[in-house]
Amino acid sequence: MKVTEHIKKANGKTLFSFEIIPPTKGKNIQELYDNIDPLMEFEPPFIDVTTSREEYVYIDRDGLFDRKITRMRPGTVGICAAIKHKYNVDTIPHVLCGGFSKEETEYLLVDCHYLGIENVMALRGDAMSHQKFFEPSNGGHHYACDLVKQIQNLNKGKYLHDVIEADDKADFCVGVAGYPEKHVEAPSLNSDLKRLKEKVDVGADYVVTQMFFDNSKYFEFVKEARNAGIDVPIIPGIKPIAISRHLQMLPQVFKIDIPEPLISAVEKCKNNKEVRQVGIEWCIQQSKELMEGGAPVLHYYSMGKSSNIEQIAKAVF
Ligand code: FAD
Repeated sequence: MKVTEHIKKANGKTLFSFEIIPPTKGKNIQELYDNIDPLMEFEPPFIDVTTSREEYVYIDRDGLFDRKITRMRPGTVGICAAIKHKYNVDTIPHVLCGGFSKEETEYLLVDCHYLGIENVMALRGDAMSHQKFFEPSNGGHHYACDLVKQIQNLNKGKYLHDVIEADDKADFCVGVAGYPEKHVEAPSLNSDLKRLKEKVDVGADYVVTQMFFDNSKYFEFVKEARNAGIDVPIIPGIKPIAISRHLQMLPQVFKIDIPEPLISAVEKCKNNKEVRQVGIEWCIQQSKELMEGGAPVLHYYSMGKSSNIEQIAKAVF
């Protein structure tokens, strides 16, 4: 079922969902299942599976130069299929512009369609570590907006190099990213919202936000988005702080602010066990307030570990 249908069916009740990261290459999928199992009691209607890119450095034989070749970490679509089958839940692969040509994207989407996957999250991806700015792959999309267009074309039965008329159309529901604290490359929140509107105008059906720790940023973002004419569901993405290093790491990686009261509560902790508890309590408060404020879904970034999300969900759902 589509995310938008799940939200409609819930009739105002806030739903629970979460995002997982595929295991590192060569790791057993069981660890992932062990993390998903305890969260299933909260009946997530859908689970997101991220896509990561990683670099391998190939050194040519005579050692005269290094040749860098970028490859994706495998598993996203396979894991979506495995989880969908095992738990009978909708799964959402994150589809990236970066690292994919348009043809590879089409292949991936056709696979998703055959696997009965009805939702995809369309994202640009970040610049690789050796790049100053994001660079599309050979023949790939530059912005998520262009990826949304390709998906919507497929929904209309328009393939890239079609030679025969398609008689089996996909019907993907498309999610896109939104940034309550603006995307790092955007000159202002206003211009970022205009870009978000473009994604919605070409067919994005819902938005999932970057993590935030101050709910007023989400509520303000929703208000501004509505003023800008964005009328699709805006799902807050949230994450509990779990280790003291998150205070530096999360703002650095995700370009978000951590509120002063949360920083000082973490700084008072004697060890990471205490930090974890502070993170859980903060996230419970955030979740309850978002729920009261009418958030359609609370979407948790599990980052591979679920026990704190389980504690939060127990207190909230
Ligand atoms: P876009 O919407 O393309 O926007 C990127 C930037 O370009 C923005 O600053 C925007 O304002 C600007 N822009 C857009 N269109 C134009 C235009 N026409 N001209 C000029 N500027 C423009 N990354 C991963 O690698 N894997 C994941 O699985 C993943 N999942 C994510 C899930 C969520 C919910 C979120 C919020 C992010 C996720 N990301 C993931 C990170 C995401 O890929 C990065 O934040 C990336 O830098 C931007 O992606 P986007 O889809 O928002 O890009």
